[in-house]
Amino acid sequence: MSAMSDPYGSFVRTGPGKLLAARTGLPRPPRLRRSVPGQGLLDGPAAVVGLPGASRVDETTLWLRNAGVRIARGEEPLAALVVDATGLRTVADLDELLTLAPLFRRTTGRVLVLSAVPATLTDPEARAVQQGLEGFVRSLGKEARGGTTVNLLRVAEGAGTALRSAVEFFCSARSAFVDGQPLVVGPGVPVVRRDRPVAVVTGAAQGIGAATAQVLARSGHHVVCVDVAAAGEKLAAVANSVAGSTLHLDVTAADAPAALATHLADRFGGADVVVHNAGITRDRSFVNLDAAAWSSVLAVNLGAPVRLTTALLEHDGALAPGARFVCLSSINGLAGAKGQTNYATSKAGLVGLVEALAGPLAERGLAVNAVAPGFIETPMTAAMPPIPRELGRRTSSLQQGGLPIDVAEAIGWLAQPDAAGIDGQVLRVCGQNLLGA
Ligand code: NAD
Repeated sequence: MSAMSDPYGSFVRTGPGKLLAARTGLPRPPRLRRSVPGQGLLDGPAAVVGLPGASRVDETTLWLRNAGVRIARGEEPLAALVVDATGLRTVADLDELLTLAPLFRRTTGRVLVLSAVPATLTDPEARAVQQGLEGFVRSLGKEARGGTTVNLLRVAEGAGTALRSAVEFFCSARSAFVDGQPLVVGPGVPVVRRDRPVAVVTGAAQGIGAATAQVLARSGHHVVCVDVAAAGEKLAAVANSVAGSTLHLDVTAADAPAALATHLADRFGGADVVVHNAGITRDRSFVNLDAAAWSSVLAVNLGAPVRLTTALLEHDGALAPGARFVCLSSINGLAGAKGQTNYATSKAGLVGLVEALAGPLAERGLAVNAVAPGFIETPMTAAMPPIPRELGRRTSSLQQGGLPIDVAEAIGWLAQPDAAGIDGQVLRVCGQNLLGA
């Protein structure tokens, strides 16, 4: 779906719209720079700054250089600013953050702060200081202008290759709608995938699922596009456009888990990536909800991922070595939403599923994460009443809804073998929406 589905956002980019917004103080959503195939990681130079005790500056600089990024000299404008704050331990150390103001002022693009993992620090002051960085990053995200995003990577001991992959993602245009988020990077071991790995995406006929199929195909996956039979034509169009295949399946059907597991094992020798994307809403205030609206949302959004995952884990050959699961949660699941008790229960439930499965799956060399989209321009949100829809768009730091591709890029990154250090976590793709922030 195009950005044109945000009429206000398009209007304020016109001459008269700009003038009106400037005079009245209305929001002026910036145009976000999104990833274009063949484009370099950044469209300008980067600076990597080490605060006292920093230990990651050299390797981060090297990774950026190897990815074709020029390291800035002098006072030139920056497309990315990476700050290594992993060594800050005392309240007095936090004064060092003030030195970043001039650099922040000349950065348009990405700001990425590296911190320690607070929970691993035993000294109370050190833990407080490292936790404080989250408030710093979240506030800076709210102050940033021009589509600049600010995120925090908490770097665990031994997070080698996974840190490089995270630095690249968070510095690139692929993370255009990820803003104000903390994420832990652990020491996962990257797997070597087959030449043509296989990904399965449920609910692939439209919206986020269709965009996810595109992104996974772009990174070399054969994509098995799953959706209900009624979505057959749209599903075939998506599958054709990515040279993938289709599987008509109602994910809530009693035989769906066995059918999917058998299909993946027998036809493809297992799946390398499984994206639980199919989802529905049946919004109604709790007192007016009928049993069907309650149970259908729980069945599609939570019951199906639970049952499908169990079957894939139990069925011999349904998963390839090092397979990665990604579940679609929602910021409404994290924050709760009026009229969505059913939906929020299902989406918060997925966070529990991810957290419960991460440990046991890691023992088998597998990983599972969730993305929690904010307001994304899809047929699902197009069906919302106009006022909540407009509020959903403007309540993020980026003052606009995201596009399906924004969520797909995050899923595509989490699915990559070298993102192996990201496990059991929830990554919000919401432009730092105020909901549940
Ligand atoms: P969408 O309604 O545009 O597409 C959902 C797809 O799932 C459809 O193709 C539909 O046919 C399919 N589906 C529904 N029930 C199914 C079933 N029983 N079996 C198989 N397929 C089924 O939705 P979207 O906006 O692209 O959202 C995708 C996911 O992201 C959902 O899980 C949604 O809850 C989540 N999400 C979306 C947003 C947003 O703003 N759009 C925000 C947060 C989370």
